Amino acid sequence: MKKLIAVILSVVMLFSITGLAFAEKEQTTDTPIIIIPGFLQTNLQFKKEDGSFEKVWLPDFAEKFDVIGKNIPEIVDSMVKAFADDPEALGKALMNMMSELMPKMMCNPDGTSLYPVTHYENDPAKRNMHYIKNSGEKVSMQAYYTFADHICKEGYAKAENVFVFEYDGRMDALTVADELRVFVKAVKSYSGKDKVRLFGVSYGGQIAETYLHLYKDDGDVEKVVFSVPSFGGTNFGDRLLNGTVDFALDDVIGIIENITGSDTDYGKLLKDVDPEFFSRLLNGVSAGITEYAKYWGSVYSLTSVEHYESLKSKFLHPSFSEELIRRNDIIHYEIMPAVRETLKKCMESGIEIAIHACSGLNLSLGGEENSDLLLAVKDVTGAESTVLGKRYENGYTGARTECTDESHHHVSPSMEIDASTAYLPEHTWFVDGSHHAMFQYEQYGLALATKAVCTDELKDVYSSPDFPQFVCSDNPNNGVYAEFDVSTSGYITDEDSKLIIENIYKRNKIKILSVKAKGMELEFSPEDKVLSPGETLEVAFNGEIPEGNAVRTAVTVKYIKYDLLSKVAERTFDFTVLSNEKTDSDGKIVGNEFDETFSSGIPALDRLIASVMNVVDLVFVFVEFIRSDAFRYLL
Ligand SMILES: [Zn+2]
Repeated sequence: MKKLIAVILSVVMLFSITGLAFAEKEQTTDTPIIIIPGFLQTNLQFKKEDGSFEKVWLPDFAEKFDVIGKNIPEIVDSMVKAFADDPEALGKALMNMMSELMPKMMCNPDGTSLYPVTHYENDPAKRNMHYIKNSGEKVSMQAYYTFADHICKEGYAKAENVFVFEYDGRMDALTVADELRVFVKAVKSYSGKDKVRLFGVSYGGQIAETYLHLYKDDGDVEKVVFSVPSFGGTNFGDRLLNGTVDFALDDVIGIIENITGSDTDYGKLLKDVDPEFFSRLLNGVSAGITEYAKYWGSVYSLTSVEHYESLKSKFLHPSFSEELIRRNDIIHYEIMPAVRETLKKCMESGIEIAIHACSGLNLSLGGEENSDLLLAVKDVTGAESTVLGKRYENGYTGARTECTDESHHHVSPSMEIDASTAYLPEHTWFVDGSHHAMFQYEQYGLALATKAVCTDELKDVYSSPDFPQFVCSDNPNNGVYAEFDVSTSGYITDEDSKLIIENIYKRNKIKILSVKAKGMELEFSPEDKVLSPGETLEVAFNGEIPEGNAVRTAVTVKYIKYDLLSKVAERTFDFTVLSNEKTDSDGKIVGNEFDETFSSGIPALDRLIASVMNVVDLVFVFVEFIRSDAFRYLL
């Protein structure tokens, strides 16, 4: 049964693209804002012989029913095969259909487009949100539209003043950075302003950093907000092109939970599906992807220095791909190693910078690093972190290589990330458990990006108690959020006397059943009360907060979710005890004891319990899916 769900989900993942509506209010900031979208989040068009254009990316599935229809027999056949343990067949069938849906995306060995395919023209008069909205241009579920719409609607920016930079997502970061420079100058002259603000998401962040490395002395930029920037690349291209995918299923499912917005934990449903199945499915896609994307400059720009040479030597010919190699060599041997220096120089020259990172997840295609699903924390922020499942020992207060201020505590509540070693410790924000580039679906992530881009309220991680350096994700699918009453989110001091628990579901009511501390002797007695969405409960506690500084503890909140059916759920929060005591830990790495899941000690019994729970979960997920936005959209 779970294999069937896995097969269906992999098809649903491919089609999860929805439309969005727009509205507008008045402005607060009048500096032009340029949004630089992530990898393949921009539009591409094919120039036909008669001079007219046909959109080739992003693919519009609704308009391509004939292609989808033609492929259905093969997909169904491969789904049957996948069910009979041949997921590679499904991978290949999906890739074949994708190739037919977007037939003109291939590049020549030198990195240029094989067909006359270009991005939309970067004319400021046509790339501002006011024009886009009124021109009837079709938009899909892209991070920048959701975000751009939000800041205009909430009155943080005027639609005429918010620009979306278009680029060819197949091209290397150096090429695109040069185009960004031209666009920045065009926006300045169109708007009549001296400076612009940049907001770069993922690959868009890397492009902005490449631009700053090359052209910061132009003096055209006042502020840059990097959201999950791919400064240091990732292992994604390496895993996909080489067919060595090792899929992190649970964490990837989280993205579907985000998008469907159904207050549902699909991850639990699949927790004992063999991730090997998805790995084989993606490795089945691999050959097709390689054929398609091996000459895309962006694939190499997005690859970490560590994996670059092997990928280059395997897929690029030294003379046929000379230009593609030359440009990516500059990225890997001049720009990537200098990120720290570039960002610091920008700050020194008066450019304000904010970096937003997500953490606490596995790399989706395999690897041990603490990541946001696609990018390792270290490559996004420069901060040292332990691999998942490990943490720094109690007493560790950071290596302090960048921030030397003894009064600052830059180690994460989970004691996994040492932000005192980050590129910019005072200007880097982390959201634990949030997925790569999904900030727009989370209240906190959206507010953080909005404030950072549109206001001057967040000078650094100490500017506002509402936006500290570390928070954990308030994605509604997580059900509850908890922090102590006085301390910064994620920390506990002897000034605290209550735990504040919030129901963060969008529509489910909950009741807190129990609150249990780990690593400290605290007794909580939650009131017997039903919490509506958004409502909070103050829970007093008895007992002593542990002695010492930088001591890791945790609190597990168990609650019942009121729905068509009622169900018990729980979430564990990391809390580090802080005091003024001096510590002398040098950061030895130890096991992360509070992350262990329940075990009876008997593997066979654990599997049986998991199977029973999965049948129960299946019923819940079915009911919740029928009630979800995604289901309504499909209808
Ligand atoms: Zn500091």
